[in-house]
Amino acid sequence: MATYDCDVLVIGGGIHGVGVAQAAAAAGYEVVVLEQNDLASGTSSRSSKLIHGGLRYLEGAQFSLVRESLHERELLLRLAPTLVKRQKFFIPIYPETSRRPWLMRLGLGVYALFSGMGPYARFRSIPKAEWEALDGLKTDRLQHVFQYWDAQTDDVLLTQAVMNSAQQLGARLLCPARFVTAEISPDSCLVSYTVNGQTKQCKCLTVVNAAGPWARHVATQFIPRIPDVAVDNVQGTHLELPGKVERGCYYMEVPQDKRAVFVMPWKNGTTLVGTTEHHYIGEPDAVVPLPEEREYLIDVYQHYFPNRSKEIINEWAGLRVLPAAGGTAFGRSRETQLPVDNESNPRVLSILGGKLTGYRATAEQVMHTLYRTLPKKEPIAQTSKIPLHSPELK
Ligand SMILES: Cc1cc2nc3c(=O)[nH]c(=O)nc-3n(C[C@H](O)[C@H](O)[C@H](O)COP(=O)(O)OP(=O)(O)OC[C@H]3O[C@@H](n4cnc5c(N)ncnc54)[C@H](O)[C@@H]3O)c2cc1C
Repeated sequence: MATYDCDVLVIGGGIHGVGVAQAAAAAGYEVVVLEQNDLASGTSSRSSKLIHGGLRYLEGAQFSLVRESLHERELLLRLAPTLVKRQKFFIPIYPETSRRPWLMRLGLGVYALFSGMGPYARFRSIPKAEWEALDGLKTDRLQHVFQYWDAQTDDVLLTQAVMNSAQQLGARLLCPARFVTAEISPDSCLVSYTVNGQTKQCKCLTVVNAAGPWARHVATQFIPRIPDVAVDNVQGTHLELPGKVERGCYYMEVPQDKRAVFVMPWKNGTTLVGTTEHHYIGEPDAVVPLPEEREYLIDVYQHYFPNRSKEIINEWAGLRVLPAAGGTAFGRSRETQLPVDNESNPRVLSILGGKLTGYRATAEQVMHTLYRTLPKKEPIAQTSKIPLHSPELK
């Protein structure tokens, strides 16, 4: 059996797994990533593709999350200009919109403050004379349109770019390679995984469980058992429709439940509409859009863009990992949880939840925790300074 000895073994090649691989390799450690399918084949290809602070998280007073995300957004705009692009966001207000203009001004003001008050931190009101140019947005009873800036990416390309960067720093990617089980001993972890049906083993100092919606299942495969954290998998669907919204992204309030739904320009002249929040029980691989989600999203789109095509050309569902709680998923914390098997000497750390936007900050936080166990090494790079290149441009 082949043996890979490494400092950090990462389970999962989504944005968090590759982010940790990059951070660990940059810190001078030997890293191996196991990915069972393809890079970004889980949630990291099914996000809304926004690199944003999350304006709506201000409502839930998640200030540190918004501030950190805005900081990461600015960093990614600098480090990955071919992958992360600034985008205009429009928020229309009608008489029935629950978030009134004064509240929007307040929220956008705080957002601007957290963004650093640069030229792209500013928001404005769109003059009435320009409303007709807003991609067919319903102007009947329209009272106000705000415009602010955030950013958009291609989540798959971003994940691939971060993995490429990790590999350039020496990380190894095994794909497809499926984690099966691990035995934790006082000085290491013995991880078993399969490649083409063959079982292999890797002895490592630490394991990072970055298996996204599979993380709770992966956590049950450690001997001895590692502490469980109560989380829910919440499904979110996107629809891809013909004809691109040219001016930017639209932040729509759903009339019946006041949730936010985005209408966003996408590749090949299409538009994305998403997302939903449905509690999901079942195998993560089996998640698919539900008829009621389709209907919900088409209804919102029809409501605000009555003359645009509603023909669905593509659709997909992804799973958010959120803290377990009753009630709706919309208001739940998006903060990342990083439970470990042992606080003073962690061998296994799980990444639960989080955002695409904050992957680098999360990876640095993971490394900070693992330094309690890992031997001291000389860093070879800093993730805040490593440029990321689009794999498409190679
Ligand atoms: C609908 C939706 C919209 C979102 N929109 C945004 C957004 O606009 N902006 C934003 O910042 N965030 C957004 N998010 C959040 C963001 O997408 C996720 O936080 C992020 O993609 C999670 O990445 P991950 O690496 O933790 O998980 P994943 O991307 O799911 O990666 C886990 C990986 O682990 C692999 N794996 C699982 N089990 C094993 C095993 N046994 N062996 C080997 N590999 C294994 C899987 O194949 C998978 O590739 C959104 C999430 C959802 C669901």
